[in-house]
Amino acid sequence: MDGLRLWREVSLRNRPKRYLINTHWHWDHTDGNGWVHSLGATIIAQENTLKRLFTTTRVEEWNYTFQPWPVGGRPTVTFKTDKTLKFDGETIVLKGFGPGHTDSDVTVYFTKADVMSLGDIFWNGVYPFIDSDTRGSIDGMIRLVNASLEHVTDKTIIIPGHGPVGNRAQLIEFRDMLVAIRENVARLKQQGKSLDEVISAKPTAAYDAKWGGFVIDPVFFTRLVYAGL
Ligand SMILES: [Zn+2]
Repeated sequence: MDGLRLWREVSLRNRPKRYLINTHWHWDHTDGNGWVHSLGATIIAQENTLKRLFTTTRVEEWNYTFQPWPVGGRPTVTFKTDKTLKFDGETIVLKGFGPGHTDSDVTVYFTKADVMSLGDIFWNGVYPFIDSDTRGSIDGMIRLVNASLEHVTDKTIIIPGHGPVGNRAQLIEFRDMLVAIRENVARLKQQGKSLDEVISAKPTAAYDAKWGGFVIDPVFFTRLVYAGL
């Protein structure tokens, strides 16, 4: 670790923790809640994140039932569509554009730094998971990416839920991939093809070399897109 990074980590560790923002309810984005809350942070989220963490939630694609989060790990400040925070000279704009990857997605924009965090609306360079058990869908993903694109410029640093830190051009490329595969799968489904027949037709083939190398492989992604159409 270089000296600057070490200095940043130590200074972050020694500063009070005021806020923790959940971009959505999924465990890989909320399982630090209890720990960071115990250090003093208020947990902020879209209202459906609290709803999901308050009850048991079944996700069929993972064959897993999530138990309610311990009380200390649940958000205590929630909102539906908009919230603005002032913090350390920054204005932080939170927006919920409705269901996309789940029904609890939030975008977080640091206006002075010009940094946008998109949670799992954006998987930079890899096929995304879409959680249809909590109202996610391919059309919702596309809608939320398009809504986010209206709030960024070529200079904005865009933080994805998975993959490397990105930019507007990469977010557009991700959107275009979603739209193209959605059209391919929709056309086959409209022809009356079953899920297995759609998978056999390889509707993602042109994109697999670039996007298919992570946890969501081409067959899995085809299934997720099909489920939402
Ligand atoms: Zn997620």
